[in-house]
Amino acid sequence: MNSPPNSDSDSASSEGTRITRSGDTLNVPDHPIIPYIEGDGVGADIWAAAKPVFDAAVETAYDGERSIVWKEVFAGEKAKKNTGELLPDETVETIRKHRVAAKGPLTTPVGAGFRSLNVALRQKLDLYANVRPTYYIDGVPSPMKNPEQMDMITFRENTEDVYAGIEWEAGTDGVEEVRRFVEEQMGYDETIHDGPVGIGIKPITEFGTKRLVREAIDYALESNTHQFVTLVHKGNIMKFTEGAFRDWGYEVAREEYGEEVITEDTLWEERDGDPPEDAVVVNDRIADNMLQQIQTRTDQYDVLAMPNLNGDYLSDACGAQIGGLGIAPGANFGDAACLAEPVHGSANKYAGQNKVNPSALILSGRLMLEYMGWEEAADALLDGLATTIDQKRVTYDFARNLEGAERLSTSEFGHAVVENMD
Ligand code: NAP
Repeated sequence: MNSPPNSDSDSASSEGTRITRSGDTLNVPDHPIIPYIEGDGVGADIWAAAKPVFDAAVETAYDGERSIVWKEVFAGEKAKKNTGELLPDETVETIRKHRVAAKGPLTTPVGAGFRSLNVALRQKLDLYANVRPTYYIDGVPSPMKNPEQMDMITFRENTEDVYAGIEWEAGTDGVEEVRRFVEEQMGYDETIHDGPVGIGIKPITEFGTKRLVREAIDYALESNTHQFVTLVHKGNIMKFTEGAFRDWGYEVAREEYGEEVITEDTLWEERDGDPPEDAVVVNDRIADNMLQQIQTRTDQYDVLAMPNLNGDYLSDACGAQIGGLGIAPGANFGDAACLAEPVHGSANKYAGQNKVNPSALILSGRLMLEYMGWEEAADALLDGLATTIDQKRVTYDFARNLEGAERLSTSEFGHAVVENMD
């Protein structure tokens, strides 16, 4: 991700050193300090299994010349207990200062209570691209006939849309004021039913859309395997928000990339559907159609760019095709910043049972290692994980659908991955 010049100072600590940046370049020392949030619910279980895997991957790759100096920071229930606050400023500032961090899931109550801490973190740190690669690992049980066809990467806008948190509760003065404004000033008379109403606002900006779509196109340009970028929207209904996302997305493609990017129209009108090897093809699909296309035409899609809510739904649906949320990784990116986190939530009913699959967090760590340029460690981690799954030594979620599997606990699975790296 691009970044303006800055001058990071104060980077040394007694045990490790901070990651800094110079212009567009991330400077990763051999012993970087990496903050992490354990997370709520199953967070403690998956971190206890994943942290040794990260350390073993780095050790395997660099034989002691590199290591991660972990620094725990608090959010969610653990933060409330330790500091009285759910998301202390210190946590946000520590992550901001260290640039690369990882987190487990954080619980968000439905309907009442506090706002999402996950959304707050992404917004406060301006981590505008939630990137979720969905790829199949051999041996994972999947509901699909050809799960290996799934190899997509979702770029989800992370800071706006209905997640911006601009909404008013039914029965409040605020909501009635908004209703009056909408009906009387904006002319939408008799559009909202009488009686209690909740109202939310869905901002989609040109700025937010374009910087996200740029990331998706840049990724495809650098990739040897992902040539198509699909803008996923519901612009047929929400014309000025999701429709605008589509239009601004195409604008970026047409105005900023020259011949490096062509649209699907050009592909068919001028090339009879045969894409040039060195160009990225941008197309768009309506979100409901896309939810079936990922199953019926899985191999035709590569990179998906979309507003926040579509991205949330679609990445879980993609995850189901490669074995479920237990193995679906993700990371949030901003300018010279990365916060890795699994797609799944805190799965509270399994908390403390040492039962769930830590693979999603482990593979989120793989994204973090790649972002740091530690490719060898990222590869070692994937090797260990893939070998363990190949041996049919898996957690409950895979064991229930895999004949002949040996069912492992969360921590046993982590140990097995480490063993398989040696
Ligand atoms: P969830 O925690 O993702 O769990 C839903 C289901 O997915 C689980 O019941 C389980 O299915 C499966 N699953 C999730 N994690 C797994 C793992 N590590 N291994 C194996 N299976 C796993 O979703 P939720 O129950 O809707 O949400 C719980 C809380 O998490 C909510 O407060 C929500 O707001 C929050 N949340 C946080 C984040 C985040 O921190 N980024 C993301 C999503 C949700 P089976 O029971 O069928 O095995």
